[in-house]
Amino acid sequence: MFDDLNDLYQQVILDHCKQPRNFHEMPAATCSAQGFNPLCGDNLKLFLQMDGDVIKDASFVGSGCCISKASASLLTDYVKGKTKVEAEKTFEQVRDMITTGTVNGDVGKLAVFAGVHKYPARVKCAILSWHALIGALKGEAKPVSTESESN
Ligand code: ZN
Repeated sequence: MFDDLNDLYQQVILDHCKQPRNFHEMPAATCSAQGFNPLCGDNLKLFLQMDGDVIKDASFVGSGCCISKASASLLTDYVKGKTKVEAEKTFEQVRDMITTGTVNGDVGKLAVFAGVHKYPARVKCAILSWHALIGALKGEAKPVSTESESN
């Protein structure tokens, strides 16, 4: 049964990797952030359109491995309609889930990344777009690197 579940998760990740959602520039973006993971070469830019405290729209562009692209694809789908505070809380849930494999609370489809904790080299690929999200929400001007903080 767990193998079936893993297969399903892998299918979701592969699907989002091959056909990323919200994969485009956003001229109407109110904030954006560049994220870089030097360990893997993942490089992406995340765009947000804020309406007050609510994320009205989200998109990304860039290049990277399958995990990093699928993560950004699912992230941009997930955070639409969420408030800044909700998105920050989700970042913490996702970070805990990716590093420990334990899902705390409802993270919807993002749960497909719980298995990443078994592959330490891929954790930073999966978390990269989330660092970029937080960078964009904070309005940080300089690129966010997965190597700028320890996790
Ligand atoms: Zn990667």
